[in-house]
Amino acid sequence: MDAPSPPSGFESGPPAEGAGRATPVMEQYIEIKAANPDCLLFYRMGDFYELFFEDAEVAARALGIVLTKRGKHLGRDIPMCGVPVHRADEYLNRLIALGHRVAVCEQLEDPAEARKRGNKSVVRRDVIRLVTPGTLTEDTLLDARRNNYLLAVARARASSGTESRFALAWIDISTGEFRIVECDRASLANEIARIEPGEIIVSDALYGDAELAPYLRSLPAVTPLTRDVFDGANAERRLAGYFGLSTTEGFGALSRLELTAAAACVTYVERTQLGQRPPLSPPTREAQGATLAIDPATRSNLELARTLAGERRGSLLAAVDRSVTAAGSRLLAQRLAAPLTDPAAIARRHDAVEFFVGDAAARADMRERLEAAPDLARALARLVVGRGGPRDLAAIRDGIAAAAGLAARLERSAALATELADTAQALRRPDQSIAAELAAALADELPHLKRDGGFIRADYDAALDEARALRDESRRVIAALQARYADATAVRALKIRHNNVLGYFVEVTAQHGDKLMAPPLNATFIHRQTLAGQVRFTTTELGELEAKIASAADRALGIELETFDRLAAAVTTAAADIKAAAEALAVLDVAAALAELAVERHYVRPEIDASLDFVVEGGRHPVVEQALARDGGPFVANDCDLSPPLEAAAGRIYLLTGPNMAGKSTYLRQNALIAILAQMGSFVPARHARIGAVDRLFSRVGAADDIARGRSTFMVEMVETAAILNQAGKRSLVILDEIGRGTATFDGLSIAWATIEHLHESNRCRALFATHFHELTALAATLPRLFNATVRVKEWQGEVVFLHEVVPGAADRSYGIQVAKLAGLPATVIERAKVVLATLEAEDLASPRGLEDLPLFAAAPRPTSPPQHGAALDNIVRMLASLSPDEMSPREALEALYALKARAGSED
Ligand code: ADP
Ligand code: MG
Repeated sequence: MDAPSPPSGFESGPPAEGAGRATPVMEQYIEIKAANPDCLLFYRMGDFYELFFEDAEVAARALGIVLTKRGKHLGRDIPMCGVPVHRADEYLNRLIALGHRVAVCEQLEDPAEARKRGNKSVVRRDVIRLVTPGTLTEDTLLDARRNNYLLAVARARASSGTESRFALAWIDISTGEFRIVECDRASLANEIARIEPGEIIVSDALYGDAELAPYLRSLPAVTPLTRDVFDGANAERRLAGYFGLSTTEGFGALSRLELTAAAACVTYVERTQLGQRPPLSPPTREAQGATLAIDPATRSNLELARTLAGERRGSLLAAVDRSVTAAGSRLLAQRLAAPLTDPAAIARRHDAVEFFVGDAAARADMRERLEAAPDLARALARLVVGRGGPRDLAAIRDGIAAAAGLAARLERSAALATELADTAQALRRPDQSIAAELAAALADELPHLKRDGGFIRADYDAALDEARALRDESRRVIAALQARYADATAVRALKIRHNNVLGYFVEVTAQHGDKLMAPPLNATFIHRQTLAGQVRFTTTELGELEAKIASAADRALGIELETFDRLAAAVTTAAADIKAAAEALAVLDVAAALAELAVERHYVRPEIDASLDFVVEGGRHPVVEQALARDGGPFVANDCDLSPPLEAAAGRIYLLTGPNMAGKSTYLRQNALIAILAQMGSFVPARHARIGAVDRLFSRVGAADDIARGRSTFMVEMVETAAILNQAGKRSLVILDEIGRGTATFDGLSIAWATIEHLHESNRCRALFATHFHELTALAATLPRLFNATVRVKEWQGEVVFLHEVVPGAADRSYGIQVAKLAGLPATVIERAKVVLATLEAEDLASPRGLEDLPLFAAAPRPTSPPQHGAALDNIVRMLASLSPDEMSPREALEALYALKARAGSED
């Protein structure tokens, strides 16, 4: 057989034979596969997971492994491929990343058990778990620093007069978080972008909905499910059932829609975990408006969690993350994705950061302790679903101890910020006796898997010690027996060996075989097997010893596994307290990390209030600043004041002009990022900042490419601008960068013009608008809350020098040619451009004649081509046309050439 996977002993041979009749193994396979049609089936055979039929073809292609054949089914070859069990995680990882779902089917008994039922019987197998992108718990399958959410989206259809409503429920089964929010169609994409789920579940109906289908299909890993999962009628019962409660009243007032989404989540978890219930916190309902709304375009444009190129490096998150634990990193990412809007809640977080800014010793000490603490939440989740190992128990032991140590350290401080006082309390919640019990039970060196035992400490359990002694003792007895047999037979090379088929046996080389098979030795040695070079025997004594060893080893392993289960059960009982401590560790890490950042990079505590003010003094771009610092360059700090002017009831709009490369985009983004950092609870890169909490943040860049979605860039720009103009309100902050760039100049100018008027008059929001249309600065004369600002440059020896300094006023010109020169355009092009520019500037752009589509598209006059030249050329061309070279003698041709030359010369 050419298959790469040796199947388990007695089941070897093709899983199917001749046409028509499936073998028992294939019958079993087909039955299990039929129950899991939408998953790739990993079918356990000995040391391999094997895939058959179409699954094999899909997996072989996806994983780049060999596709072979194994037997026949209904007369045709069965395609097959296999992955070794010990490398299964790696392959699972790749399949999940590609959006596949995998059903893992295990052997539920030892092949020996099956054999007892008769030679034809099949090992019992069943699916023990479905692996889907949103329901992972293994460290090898998860990114330690990111949450992996499963999100359920439920919809209540629009009825007359009301719009469709949506409820989102999302959980991370590897940490136990569980949240719910309700939203409308307009903010659906914002919410999903914020949550960044690993997998989304929706009902078949929603997935097929004409209006939503294109959007849903553009998202990764959306799983449509049958309607019973989203059945509102029994949602409450299913949700309560998951938590072992009779009602969900304790979760607060949840709408039927919210219950539907939450119940869909837990139902899906139960299905994929085959009835196991990973520990979840009771769902917390997020009030609408509690978080700063940021739409997907703004999120990616501001490069919050990853850059436009899709990398974490270079993002705001990467620039500000100083956390030392994976859980802290996850919490920081969450907070950055969803800044708050309530000034009091924000101040609570700032208080905690301030504590650590003020107490460097506490900060250093606690960060050191945190760094040594394990990922408590994920270890806990694995233990509760029965996927934990000895090292997860150790993580609980160390995590509880670390929590208690940190609580004690915190309590040494007199007046603790509320967030930290709450944290200290949560850290104290786990029962210390569990940690003590685990410390007493677990060995110093722990294996990864519990399967083979060896993780319980000696002296912990007398029965275990006894079984182990017997097991080890018997091994010594075997060694003694070997020596005794060697003596008795006078065969010095006699060995006692062990394999899985024969168990223990006596082995001698072929030349001594006969001796043992003849009297008197044959009374003791019973022949078992003759191989090419060796003969193997057993003895009654050896058989008895073997049974004793096996039972002692079995007993020892049995006791260890029982102990494991007992300890895991104790941990499960205390899951709520341990989870609370795990969350507190993350909160502590984030507060200390943000303080570390603030001290390292000189950030200040911002004031957040309910006003419409927005004052930033000496603001810097958190990412650009760090990038420049690495290259040794200084970042020029800039002020920004969008507060309502005296007696105005709405904030200002800055109209920022200045040449390319001056720093306009940087300035716009830094102010948006400062607002985000401030409201997520961080200090900010500025000398001083006071911000009236922003409720929605919008950011758009002119002519951004969106080829992936197949819309023209200008169309995208306009769709996104429309969204802002329709949604931004008084508390919003809007950043518009070169809007109107994607079309003809005067179209673009007109759109930009009207957009500013709309922002000023209708949206009345705080806004920053960068533009290369200098004409727009005239608007300040009529719009009282519009302020002109420009980024300073100076000219030095014909070169432009960027000062990156934002000052009131308008740019005098755009320095485009100087920038082009810096970029290395050929000198002839630069010179020519200067001439064209001079000509253009000589004309009065305000006159109707100036209202042509100037710099870009109008044909410029050509100052070096006097018109009379044209007539002379015409003459020569006419003359040339009248010649017929075929009919001319060489002499005539030469004369014609002289004549032409003379005509050209006379025109000079
Ligand atoms: P613009 O949008 O005006 O074309 P950018 O904001 O893209 O200009 O800035 C161009 C470059 O100038 C940035 O990549 C950055 O390196 C540098 N820069 C911008 N602002 C500053 C600043 N305040 N201090 C120092 N360097 C800056
Ligand atoms: Mg720019």
